[in-house]
Amino acid sequence: MGRLDQPSFEVLVQAGCPACGGKQLEIRSYIDRRLDMMLGEPNDAGRWVHDGEKFVDGTYRITCTTCATTVFSSDLCPRCNTADGLARALGESSRLAVPKRCAKCNELELLALAFVPASARYGGGETPKPKPLLDFGEPGYHVVAYACDSCDAAVVAQACPLCDAPGPLRPRP
Ligand SMILES: [Zn+2]
Ligand SMILES: [Zn+2]
Ligand SMILES: [Zn+2]
Repeated sequence: MGRLDQPSFEVLVQAGCPACGGKQLEIRSYIDRRLDMMLGEPNDAGRWVHDGEKFVDGTYRITCTTCATTVFSSDLCPRCNTADGLARALGESSRLAVPKRCAKCNELELLALAFVPASARYGGGETPKPKPLLDFGEPGYHVVAYACDSCDAAVVAQACPLCDAPGPLRPRP
C-alpha cells in the first residue's frame, strides 16, 4: 500500500482545506497509462487504465486550489515507498525503452504500460478527470512494461520503474 489508503484519502478529501475551508483540492498521483506503440513511438497520447484504488495508492500530493496550502505530501516513491523516491521518479527519465520492433518476431506495433504523474481536481461536484502532467519521453514519464500482441513476448522492468530501487515491489491494491 502507498502512503494513503482509501479511508484516510476520503477523510482528507472530505475535510477540504484546513487553512481556508476551500473544498476543491488538486490531487497529484502516479497512475497507469496504456500506449499503443509503433516503431518505438506512441501512436497517440494513450489512455488511463487505473482504477480509483490505484489513484489513491499513487497519490503523492494534495493541495488546495484556492490558497495553495499543502494538505498532504509524501517524498516516498509512489510505487515502492523508498525514502526520497519521489524526486528520483519525477526527475529521471524512463529506464525501460520500448524498442522499434519486437525482438522475437519483428512486429512493429507493441503495447506499453507507463506510470505517469497526473493531476485531478476533487470537490465542486464534477467527476475528477485526471490530466497527464507530462508527455511521453519527458523525465518523470516511466515505461513499466511492454508486450507484443503477435507473439506474446513481454518485458517488465525488474527494479522499481519509478525510482530504480531493487525489487520486489510492494503489492498494489
Ligand atoms: Zn485553502
Ligand atoms: Zn513479437
Ligand atoms: Zn520506487
